[in-house]
Amino acid sequence: MSDKFKFAMYWAGSCGGCEIAVLEIKDKILEVDANYDVVFWPVAADFKYKDVEGYDDGFIDVCLFNGCIRNSENEYVANLLRKKSKVLVAFGACATMGGIPGLANEATAQQLKDLVYRDNPSVDNPEGIYPQEKYEVPEGELELPHLYDTVKTLDQCVDVDYYVPGCPPEAHQIGAVLDAVTAALKGEAELPPKGAVVGAAPKTCCDECKRVKEEKKISGFRRMWEFFPDPEKCLLEQGVMCMGPATRAGCGARCTNVGMACRGCYGPPDGVVDQGAKMLSTLASIVDAPTPEEIAEIAGTLPDPVGTFYRFGLASSLLRRAKV
Ligand code: SF4
Ligand code: SF4
Repeated sequence: MSDKFKFAMYWAGSCGGCEIAVLEIKDKILEVDANYDVVFWPVAADFKYKDVEGYDDGFIDVCLFNGCIRNSENEYVANLLRKKSKVLVAFGACATMGGIPGLANEATAQQLKDLVYRDNPSVDNPEGIYPQEKYEVPEGELELPHLYDTVKTLDQCVDVDYYVPGCPPEAHQIGAVLDAVTAALKGEAELPPKGAVVGAAPKTCCDECKRVKEEKKISGFRRMWEFFPDPEKCLLEQGVMCMGPATRAGCGARCTNVGMACRGCYGPPDGVVDQGAKMLSTLASIVDAPTPEEIAEIAGTLPDPVGTFYRFGLASSLLRRAKV
């Protein structure tokens, strides 16, 4: 094998968007090729777990791990890649915060299986067949990973060196992260301090948003399809639930600049532990209602509070999951 640095990327509980986002760095991928040997990247090349098991510990210079820990296979590979990698990066919202799959923490694994295989009107399953973790066939025993009740973030399972937020991370930020790691591996720069959030900025999405902000006072929430929002004004001031005040900067306010509210995919900014709680406290200061009854009425116009405030971060929040 060549003396290039060794690169790995893995897809655990995720949609695959982070993998596609890496391709969005366009011709910068040629720099990756010039500097790295790909030694594990199941989406791109036919590597097996036994290949990784055979590497020396620390053999992989940098591993981008995307996806949450949803099942026993995800957790096994997280531990394996931690052992084999010098630098392990939680890459994207699912690895850093649990992401959209983390919303499954509103239910148990059994409740989800019942919903999919028993109570789903589009599924024809009169015999009530559920997936089995072990199943005998003439050729031998087939296995499926064990589905956990609770979705976990990568750092709830293994030690993580760096965090790259975003659903998915923006291409220019991925390029910047790869440049920083490559320069450090070549001895041309220092690595960021361990635990740093890289490929993002410490402030909030509002700081990057070009919309005009005036006094924030709202007397109700409206959804985008209910009216034509003013294209220049802050969406939150128009009653659209925008997570900008509780979301880390770094994407360039990509959504609000094209007329969509921020959904919070870059996670909480520096100094904020719980993104949903931060957004709730922001709303508490701008809802324009004098009585508890009116406040309750306004709050009632906001659909799906958990899916709104914890769309990407339920698994990493102080709540973490619903009680069962
Ligand atoms: S709340 Fe949303 S629309 Fe308003 S300034 Fe912040 S990011 Fe922009
Ligand atoms: S505006 Fe918000 S939801 Fe959109 S990419 Fe940026 S952080 Fe993510």
